[in-house]
Amino acid sequence: MLNQDLLTSFQKICDRHQRFLVISHVRPDGDAYGSTLGLGLCLRALGKEVLCCNADGLSPLFEFLPGGAGLVPTPAAAPEPDRLIIAVDCADPKRLGPVFDAWHRLPDVNIDHHISNPGYAKLNLIDAGSPATAQVIYEIMTTLEWPLSADAAADLYTGLMTDTGSFRYRQTTARSFEIAAQLVKAGADPTALAQGCYQSFRAERLFLMREVLNRVRFTDRNRIAWFYISPEVYSRSGATPDETEGLIEYLQAVQTVEVAFILEDMPDGLTRASLRSRGRVDVQKICAQFGGGGHVLAAGLRTRLDPSTLEKKLIELITQQLPA
Ligand code: 5GP
Ligand code: MN
Repeated sequence: MLNQDLLTSFQKICDRHQRFLVISHVRPDGDAYGSTLGLGLCLRALGKEVLCCNADGLSPLFEFLPGGAGLVPTPAAAPEPDRLIIAVDCADPKRLGPVFDAWHRLPDVNIDHHISNPGYAKLNLIDAGSPATAQVIYEIMTTLEWPLSADAAADLYTGLMTDTGSFRYRQTTARSFEIAAQLVKAGADPTALAQGCYQSFRAERLFLMREVLNRVRFTDRNRIAWFYISPEVYSRSGATPDETEGLIEYLQAVQTVEVAFILEDMPDGLTRASLRSRGRVDVQKICAQFGGGGHVLAAGLRTRLDPSTLEKKLIELITQQLPA
């Protein structure tokens, strides 16, 4: 939970500004989009002028979100000096993207739930005990008694639903269900939003899944499972990188798997890794060694190492944390 002093400071800084910019991390997920759009709508309801953006713009996968049409790719021109920049769901300012980086400005406010977040803004509203940034935003706005529209509720519900793995992951508490209930009362439609998130894929995502399932590998008595998504996998399936979201869950679903990971080449020449742990291994600690971060049970990194070198290093580090 955030302390009252931080919330009072946030209210004051909001009162002093008319123009806002809400931004989230590259390759945004449901919590990044839901938090950006939900907070954006709440600020607009207070009469503020709000620009919502991220490095990728609006993914077709999230077009169903209320307010989504207003989300733009990060503009090349740095915002006016008096525009308050709020970063949401982003543990590391580098993850706000290269266009943001070129502004040479740090966010004024940082709202997040990542344990690896160092608090890089002037005002940091970080609750590492919260399962989603959307939950942090809900707590902030209700404590400050801001109005909650049905559209903002739908966005925040989407962030909460996706980052809790539909209310299954460890940080899901009674409070998350209470908040979900309040968001549904405010107008969020759980069926429509679940369909938007989980039953609106293109066939190409299934073709991608077919390709990667053919390439799944296991080691250490099937306690570690992984696959590498080569550029060829994309060309054969016709899928796009944002369509890999969620595929790692098929590896995690295997009873013996303690850690699952995915490796992928990035367009900028870096290698990306995404890791998930059942509980025994702290994957955040592993990713931090490569300059990455995230949560104890879900973390990621980007590195100059090539995929096969990274693969070996990750297996070594995971094995070190597993009991013999
Ligand atoms: P995913 O594997 O779904 O991309 O990310 C899992 C978690 O790790 C998310 O909370 C995400 O924000 C974080 N994460 C993923 N990649 C990176 C990275 O390159 N750097 C940092 N700091 N965090 C990351
Ligand atoms: Mn999140």
